[in-house]
Amino acid sequence: MLVSNLQVKLPIHETFQSTVQGEGFWTGTLVDFIRLAGCPVGCPWCDTGYANGGQGLPSVPRSIAQLLAELQSSRVVISGGEPFIHQNLLEELVRALLATDKQVSIETSGAYWQEVSPLAWITLSPKEHISPKYPVKELFWTRANEIKLVVSTGEEVDFYRKYFVDDVNIPVYLQPEWEKRDRAIPIILELLKQHPSYRLSLQTHKLIGVQ
Ligand code: SF4
Repeated sequence: MLVSNLQVKLPIHETFQSTVQGEGFWTGTLVDFIRLAGCPVGCPWCDTGYANGGQGLPSVPRSIAQLLAELQSSRVVISGGEPFIHQNLLEELVRALLATDKQVSIETSGAYWQEVSPLAWITLSPKEHISPKYPVKELFWTRANEIKLVVSTGEEVDFYRKYFVDDVNIPVYLQPEWEKRDRAIPIILELLKQHPSYRLSLQTHKLIGVQ
């Protein structure tokens, strides 16, 4: 494995340690988060504040060495913003984390592609249905380790079924849009009857009141 340049700097939105992964396959796992700054996709319900491009949000250059020094958990989630907009830098960060024996998860809308280590777990949460200018790069449909669809109306499932089928061999999670969860959860329960291999994902961290 090539040695990473630990002095390389990435624009950081925020980091936090020893929290619980609240979504998808690794729900309940103790993790650290590295949120990279910036995302052009513009989802109206963005948890991180990038609904309108993110003007005024934090973007602090920090070196990989600084990021490694504060880690506490064995799994690190690289999130955003959209991590894959950071060409070469993301790959460098992943390599450095793996070199220190961390497990790595990356959360992405799939709108930007770059090669990262096959050891990194990729959560694909496509946003093409609300931001058609940002379609999923085709390679993600075979590279992703899990698919997470944020459900508001239930139409999201039909929208993406041209890309994957019920017997896709990775887990598919249906997660209610938080602000519309009272309406979306019953819709998801009906969808699970039609697609029994899919699973419900709740934002556990919000339910238990942690970051
Ligand atoms: S893709 Fe993710 S980070 Fe970007 S606006 Fe949508 S929810 Fe926010």
